[in-house]
Amino acid sequence: SRPLRVSVQLHPYGHGRKLLLSRDVTSVEQAEAMRRDFVANVSHEIRTPLTVLGGFIETLQNLPLPEVDRARYLDLMAQQAQRMQTLVSDLLTLSRLEGSPLPGLSDWTPVRQLMTQCEQEARALSAVLGKATHEFSFDVAEDAELAGSPSELLSAMSNLVSNAVRYTPAGGRIQVVWRALADGRAEFAVRDTGPGVAPEHLPRLTERFYRVDRSRSRETGGTGLGLAIVKHVVQRHGAELRIDSTLGAGSTFAIAFPAARLRMVRRAANDASA
Ligand code: ADP
Repeated sequence: SRPLRVSVQLHPYGHGRKLLLSRDVTSVEQAEAMRRDFVANVSHEIRTPLTVLGGFIETLQNLPLPEVDRARYLDLMAQQAQRMQTLVSDLLTLSRLEGSPLPGLSDWTPVRQLMTQCEQEARALSAVLGKATHEFSFDVAEDAELAGSPSELLSAMSNLVSNAVRYTPAGGRIQVVWRALADGRAEFAVRDTGPGVAPEHLPRLTERFYRVDRSRSRETGGTGLGLAIVKHVVQRHGAELRIDSTLGAGSTFAIAFPAARLRMVRRAANDASA
């Protein structure tokens, strides 16, 4: 067991008496250390693209450059600006998740609709990354509706799908399924044939800014915050995140939703879209 750290304070207590207050401050210190780490990480993540941008600006100011080089430099600068924008947007998402009330049971979203949006994003991202040869499958075995915040649910699901796209090399296979589980829950699962994650990294993947391979994450526009966002959304919906991964073979990231947040969609007998 951990050693107990206490803070002791003497408070005036009337009639010249003093009240001795002592409390365990270990968790307070831990929280403070985590906050410091977080600020240091954010600063570092912002400073890197800023330094690159500053360098390009200086070059453009001081050198007469042919038009092709100018255009190339401006492209690279736009990439760095985009990177900072993504980072700030993920940071805002995280802070909103931490500060807002828990999503209730009043808002229901069809899983098929979430799946379609994930599919569109995945195919577009795959094309942008030049890996349009990914072999995709998106499958909703039985449509259902999910209770919670539609934007949070979409953000969690699309984060898992975009990770699969980003980390799986061209030609790889990505399967996204929605299926009922035996215990009354249902899960959204993303399986890929990417590089996989070594077991020692698994417990830390959802920490903010934790990355197994920093440069691979950056190359594909990663902020290191995606799975932290997923974890928050999952917790806020009473769901469970499961990660199965085999180094060199691939990974499955799945979110299992509790029965209370699920509603089966009954299909009309002569549903034309079936
Ligand atoms: P990032 O922006 O770096 O992808 P995430 O929080 O989304 O941040 O993921 C954290 C780390 O988990 C990644 O840097 C990567 O090392 C690992 N990871 C996430 N998804 C996958 C995947 N599908 N295959 C292999 N590694 C993954």
